[in-house]
Amino acid sequence: MNLGRRTRDTRGAIRWRRFQHLGATVEYPAGTCWECTRCTICCQDTASHKRCIRILPQEVSRISLETDLKAEQFSTPHLSSSPYTHEMRKVSGKCFFLRDGLCSIYDARPITCVFYPFFLNRTADGCYRFELTPEKCAGTSHGREISEMRFRRLFALAMGRLSRASEDLAF
Ligand code: SF4
Ligand code: SF4
Repeated sequence: MNLGRRTRDTRGAIRWRRFQHLGATVEYPAGTCWECTRCTICCQDTASHKRCIRILPQEVSRISLETDLKAEQFSTPHLSSSPYTHEMRKVSGKCFFLRDGLCSIYDARPITCVFYPFFLNRTADGCYRFELTPEKCAGTSHGREISEMRFRRLFALAMGRLSRASEDLAF
């Protein structure tokens, strides 16, 4: 795992900071720097990692609307991690929507992509925790420290989309 320039204590452990969001406790790694270098590694498979780009039901609908494509043209069903319902298709190991090294649906990209290089985990004491994905994101060696405000915005966005997806699936 590329630990970038995250702040560590004297034993080398990551220092986690916390904030509250609507009764939830959220942890994030203090001092993490990141700036996307547009290497597109997170949009494709690599020799050591098969990228799974999970999509929520309302994200599938939005992408369909914006691209005029049917869900089955750009995704396949993904039933093992509700509330996600689909997985992005890849062409020669690259995301269906990666064109000329850029995301062609940037404003409608799934929360999976918005979150990268993080994913949300749950700790033993019930906190949500921003963890870095195990693949090496080149951006963690660049840029400024990610502010708590950015983590707060990301978390609020994720909670909004995940609860909307759960509601959709309940119908
Ligand atoms: S792997 Fe990291 S640096 Fe490369 S495109 Fe994805 S987010 Fe940006
Ligand atoms: S939707 Fe866009 S950001 Fe997400 S993997 Fe595909 S090309 Fe990359």
